[in-house]
Amino acid sequence: MKKPNKEMLTIFWGAWKNNKQAIFLITPHHYVKDIYSINYKQLKQQGIKHLIFDIDNTIMPVNETKVTVELEHFFEHLKKEFTICLLSNNKESRVKPVAEKLQVKGIANASKPTKTAYKKIKKEIQIKKNNTAMIGDQMLSDIVFGNKYELVTILVEPYKKKYDLKTGISRILQTILMKK
Ligand SMILES: [Mg+2]
Repeated sequence: MKKPNKEMLTIFWGAWKNNKQAIFLITPHHYVKDIYSINYKQLKQQGIKHLIFDIDNTIMPVNETKVTVELEHFFEHLKKEFTICLLSNNKESRVKPVAEKLQVKGIANASKPTKTAYKKIKKEIQIKKNNTAMIGDQMLSDIVFGNKYELVTILVEPYKKKYDLKTGISRILQTILMKK
């Protein structure tokens, strides 16, 4: 789990070479500062019923283990309007405590953006075309995953500039693509 998966690299090279499909896949529908800046009311109005959140650097910093009271309250509020599921490429020991604290479903070792992630999430929520939003900080995993499966995709600015090795590599690729 220390390197971006093969699919992420393929899409990176495609986007680098201006391949239209690859560019489509990495481009989010919305780009916002953080999860608190998302227009959830608008999502609700456009028929979104389920929200899939990435964990690391999306809902909390990658090196932080404690769920803040602010985040807990925020999810409490969101849960009244949406079904929520956490979808992370990180391991079970990272995902489980966060999901338990927030009282939502949590999927670990998801392998976004691959089909494995889709199969896993389908067991948890009734995904249909355009009824689900994918929210994450990484174009090559979160956004590609969402666009591939016709979800509404929302890219957030990463929480902290400090990354583990895996996040670091895909972040460098993302930075290259954004500059381009
Ligand atoms: Mg992330």
